[in-house]
Amino acid sequence: MCFSDLCRVRVALRIRPKNTDELAQGADFDTCVELQPECKKLKLKKNNWASESYQFDEIFGENSSQKRIYEVVAKPVVESVLEGYNGTVMAYGQTGTGKTYTVGQLGKEDPSERGIMVRALEHILSSMSLETDSVAVSYLQLYLESVQDLLAPEKTNIPIVEDPKTGEVSLPGAAIVEIKDLEHVCQLLQIGETNRHAANTKMNTESSRSHAILIIHLQRSLKIKEETTVSIPSDTEHTLPGDLPLVLKSKLLIVDLAGSERIDKSGSEGHMIEEAKFINLSLSSLGKCINALAENSSHIPTRDSKLTRMLRDSFGGTARTSLVVTIGPSARHHSETSSTVLFGQRAMKVVNTIRLKEE
Ligand code: ADP
Repeated sequence: MCFSDLCRVRVALRIRPKNTDELAQGADFDTCVELQPECKKLKLKKNNWASESYQFDEIFGENSSQKRIYEVVAKPVVESVLEGYNGTVMAYGQTGTGKTYTVGQLGKEDPSERGIMVRALEHILSSMSLETDSVAVSYLQLYLESVQDLLAPEKTNIPIVEDPKTGEVSLPGAAIVEIKDLEHVCQLLQIGETNRHAANTKMNTESSRSHAILIIHLQRSLKIKEETTVSIPSDTEHTLPGDLPLVLKSKLLIVDLAGSERIDKSGSEGHMIEEAKFINLSLSSLGKCINALAENSSHIPTRDSKLTRMLRDSFGGTARTSLVVTIGPSARHHSETSSTVLFGQRAMKVVNTIRLKEE
């Protein structure tokens, strides 16, 4: 039997440990957050008298391990991608709060520091048969509404194409590199990181002013032994004669979003204003899509920005999505922390329709 279930976007909140400046403030350090991980709540202090409480799917304190973050936030999405569904894992928050650490850390010296990208590929490689299945990656950066290839930096302005019949999103011209093993994964992510840094230095910007998007493409061959009815993540059940290979294609997007803080436009010039405009455009359009999905609206405004166009077939619908919102502990950033927390709260209302496997 095949049936539908409703599955919300899972949203976790992670706080980074105090940085050197914050530690140096000693007893003068003022925080606006209080975590209650046992009841998955965050208390955000407005002032000495008032605070608001927010519930999340999970709260990760400053000592949470990268392994635990992967297991709670990303593993369920990776498991559903291995079953043939599309999925997205995103990190959202102010610059300096640990988005890249959570998602993109390579852990070259210490494997326990590895972030979600490396762990997801490690998990996928160990769950697949490389004789019959394949896994490939594209690694892109979205800066000023231009898609740039982090594995082939000469490729810029890559178009985003949506198949009118299937709704499938593709990026013609972007490098898609087949993965052999974990060492190869680390090499590719390192190339991407170096190119991201070089591109941003050339553009005189910080990496946190761009979105980095790793797309993992999976193709799995299932051999059906005898006449069987299977439920696959399209929309119909299929009865297949024996010994017919069934190819399942799915993809996972892991997104390190640009810093969510608003740049003070009055004090900024030239490219800073351009950056602010485009980051605000893409993050607010992501917010609008999240709101529309949360309200179960029939129109999801994905066409407003390239970020949401890229996410179109991997976010909402039957795709599984997890979001980590990252915050710092300092009261100085109360307003940015508050806006990050509210973004996460809206995302918790998004319901994706997941068709469960037959019993
Ligand atoms: P963002 O991507 O949000 O701009 P980063 O990931 O670059 O922030 O983190 C800023 C700094 O804080 C980096 O030096 C990073 O190593 C450190 N950091 C962030 N989160 C953690 C954490 N959970 N544990 C240890 N260090 C962290």
